[in-house]
Amino acid sequence: MSNTKELKLNSLLIHGGIDGDETTGAVNVPVYQTSTYKQDGLGKNRGWEYSRTGNPTRAALEKLIADLEQGQYGLAFASGLAAINTVLSLFKSGDKLIVSDNIYGGTFRILDNVFNNFNITYKIVDTSDLAAVEAAIDDDVKAIYIETPANPLLTITDIRAVSEIGHKYGKKIIVDNTFLTPYLQRPLTLGADIVIHSGTKYLGGHSDTISGFVVVNDKETADRLYYLQNAIGGVLAPWDSFLLIRGIKTLGVRMDRHVANAGRISEWLAGSGYVSKVYYPGLKTDPGYETNRKQADGAGAMISFVLDEKYDYKVFFEKLNLITLAESLGGVESLVCHPATMTHAAIPADIRKEVGIVDELIRLSVGIEDADDLIADLEQAIKASAKV
Ligand SMILES: *Cc1c(COP(=O)(O)O)cnc(C)c1O
Repeated sequence: MSNTKELKLNSLLIHGGIDGDETTGAVNVPVYQTSTYKQDGLGKNRGWEYSRTGNPTRAALEKLIADLEQGQYGLAFASGLAAINTVLSLFKSGDKLIVSDNIYGGTFRILDNVFNNFNITYKIVDTSDLAAVEAAIDDDVKAIYIETPANPLLTITDIRAVSEIGHKYGKKIIVDNTFLTPYLQRPLTLGADIVIHSGTKYLGGHSDTISGFVVVNDKETADRLYYLQNAIGGVLAPWDSFLLIRGIKTLGVRMDRHVANAGRISEWLAGSGYVSKVYYPGLKTDPGYETNRKQADGAGAMISFVLDEKYDYKVFFEKLNLITLAESLGGVESLVCHPATMTHAAIPADIRKEVGIVDELIRLSVGIEDADDLIADLEQAIKASAKV
């Protein structure tokens, strides 16, 4: 399809990128399960040479994610962290990044224990506090790396305001958009320079494939990223690219249900008397509510809460029946996790406590099951965890 840019988002999910197969008329992009391509003569290829460098199934997906984010250039990786690794490889020894204070644990780990070794350093800042962001900028800072909603406290950062501050000083703005997906939030249109995804989560949507993405508008950054993608080699395989294209087709209908369920569950939790705190930017009482509403089309489906001290969180996890205790998020099934010992265990205990990732904190990835069943499961597990 030639004019996909004119389509609305719900149509782009189905027809964006490279739609179907020109050669055979197949309505789905074929899985080009090949490592290499026949060359017609020395220096004469048909646009494809080697599948680390380029693969037609991956290319269709890369164009699709770019269309969805309203960006020019998309890149697909074997995992979200392979995408993050490639983006961080844009920087040089001596460079510094400002990062949101509650980011994905693996992002913290690669900064702290890998890039730190190459003297690419980071400074943790509450990026929802714009004055703090501006105060943290110095000559060594080359980029501001944010997640909004951030993991696991769902803190909201104003993407447009941070972009304006960063650009005033010539810094790049990087946004990990995993939690909302382009269906609900498109950071490039708000001023960000680089968008990152773990495609493992809502984009794939079925908890069956690990993947990651980067999308940018600027040609120079894109060229460097394509160079790094090929040089580092953490590319997404053809079959996994197919699965992601397949998953993205239903992103809109899934997200609508995810968000509706999360809205109901967050309100139920907040009024239940079972919890001392609920973090969800879709609640009117949440400090990030207004900013999120301004920049996104929904609050997503990640909820964190702190069980009241009358209940034992360890027992709570064991008593759940329908909701599964597991790492990850964004699948059709509801998952629950314990950030302090699971997703955010890589963050030192003192920093964890400082940012509010207490031991009683529970993170819920709300799936697309019936909300009544989810609420019933939460309620029976909480009641069964009452301390005697
Ligand atoms: C899961 C996740 C990542 C890492 O992605 P992988 O696909 O697991 O490598 C990065 N950022 C966020 C917000 C995530 O949830």
